[in-house]
Amino acid sequence: MMDLHAHSLYSDGSSTAAEIVRIAKERELSLCAITDHDCIDGVEEAIREGQKIAMPVLSGIELDIENECELHLLGYGFDYHNPALLAELKHQANERQARNEKIVEQLEALDIPIEVRRDTRGKLVSRTHLADAIVRAGKADNIQDAFAKYLGPTGLVRIERKRLRMEEAIQLIHQAGGLAVLAHPGFIKLHPKETIAELIEAGLDGIEAYYAMHSASQIVDFCDIAEANNLMITTGSDYHGEFRKYARFGHVAKLAALDSRIREAEEQLLSMMKIQIKTMSLCSEKGA
Ligand code: AMP
Ligand code: MN
Ligand code: MN
Ligand code: MN
Repeated sequence: MMDLHAHSLYSDGSSTAAEIVRIAKERELSLCAITDHDCIDGVEEAIREGQKIAMPVLSGIELDIENECELHLLGYGFDYHNPALLAELKHQANERQARNEKIVEQLEALDIPIEVRRDTRGKLVSRTHLADAIVRAGKADNIQDAFAKYLGPTGLVRIERKRLRMEEAIQLIHQAGGLAVLAHPGFIKLHPKETIAELIEAGLDGIEAYYAMHSASQIVDFCDIAEANNLMITTGSDYHGEFRKYARFGHVAKLAALDSRIREAEEQLLSMMKIQIKTMSLCSEKGA
């Protein structure tokens, strides 16, 4: 039973990375990963907690990809000291920050004062935090409503930021020794088949077919696509703690565990974890 999709307070979740690993242990998962948005600040904390309580943890990330509608790529088992990866994430953090400043300016012009409330351990401010501030300013009923009225595709304030192209993102994960998995393919509303084909062409390794918000028929369809293209099938809940109360960590893990194809993927990922542990002890020996 694995759950490979969770956000900690280093991006737009509310739990620490170590807390999520402890929840994984409590729910008797066999493998987990923290996949913060364009950020790996919680990865080492998660892996260390995993070693302490004997809970297998893979390094993880969720990258935003340039596309006409929402497209996210999950990366697993990469070396989280990789210089090219660290440099790109720094660049993405600057892009997000510059975009946030423009959004806040426009919201304030609409008479919505924005006061971001955020756990100080996290550096990244995401639209989730801005949505939370809109709710507290009394201009939306809840986070979803703030996206519908202001920050989402139909909202009043839409400011693009530069994201990675799919080839760049897959290459970035691969050159750091990791695997690239398409997150929540059910969210691709425009040209899903063509988009998945392009990703496969670019070197995609897997599909998150078992996703908490996928319907049973979506799960079957995405598993079929994965199988036909020799891709790994993974599972994730997209846990965000208090910022997405309906997403329970480990939610689809039990259902997915009944599928023998997911156990194959799990074995492959667990063997990556062994490599990851070796790299980590090499790095700490070198004092890196
Ligand atoms: P950012 O990466 O800063 O643009 O923030 C995007 C985050 O906002 C995503 O990771 C989601 O967690 C959240 N989000 C995006 N769209 C919606 C929506 N319609 N309702 C609720 N949360 C959303
Ligand atoms: Mn999020
Ligand atoms: Mn996502
Ligand atoms: Mn996510």
